[in-house]
Amino acid sequence: MTGNLPESMTTREQQLQYLEAMGIQAWTARHADDAAEQGAVTSDPAPAPVAAPDTSAPAVPVSAVFDATDVAGLDWPVLEARVSECTLCDLHSSRTRTVFGVGNHNADWLVIGEAPGHDEDQQGEPFVGRAGQLLNAMLQAVGLQREQVFIANILKCRPPNNRDPKPEEVACCEPYLLRQIELIQPRLILAVGRIAAQNLLNTQTPIGKLRGEVHQFRDTGIPLIATYHPAYLLRSPMEKRKSWQDLQLALRTLREQSK
Ligand code: URA
Repeated sequence: MTGNLPESMTTREQQLQYLEAMGIQAWTARHADDAAEQGAVTSDPAPAPVAAPDTSAPAVPVSAVFDATDVAGLDWPVLEARVSECTLCDLHSSRTRTVFGVGNHNADWLVIGEAPGHDEDQQGEPFVGRAGQLLNAMLQAVGLQREQVFIANILKCRPPNNRDPKPEEVACCEPYLLRQIELIQPRLILAVGRIAAQNLLNTQTPIGKLRGEVHQFRDTGIPLIATYHPAYLLRSPMEKRKSWQDLQLALRTLREQSK
């Protein structure tokens, strides 16, 4: 794990270490202009144009947007128990454990991935494999401990051989995720990967086009930012720079919100 850092390290030092783990060169320019000219990634780049979420329509509570009647009003323990015994789709027969999600129930950030893989299915926790370690590093790079955010997936059970989730599996699982969103009331959703972004935004648009701007999670008013899946970043490290930009966009979005 990348989380074992000496306690004496400052936050800035930690961020630099995690940026390095992400393969991103962070440095402080002697003159601000140097950084701009050389296209350097700094920890606080000049704001890129942001497509602001459509705030013309009033935000409505998650509960009003979806029909999640089966899980309506469930609290955390009951919801988790309901998930652990779920047999709504075929995935229940091949799973080792359900992967409910983990983290802070009052988190500002809700990170949503695709589905459990082998390690997650064994351990019952999302993002614990190599991709999870990179996700932790990405969060650390923006000053967040894994425990500060909530991490969930579109699916709570592992699809065989890590195949893409089927629409009917997503439909069966969605009420659980929606109830989690309703309970957490995050200030921001970070959708990691194509499957998460496309399902949350109800679109087939490629992830490369969805990333880099601020969407809205359906009609809830919760800003949603899509970025590449850490498993993809492990295969395509050159794209880490874009994910870093997405995380910076998320930070700016939260900052704007609290003004
Ligand atoms: N990939 C995901 O999308 N989620 C996990 O929990 C693990 C890997």
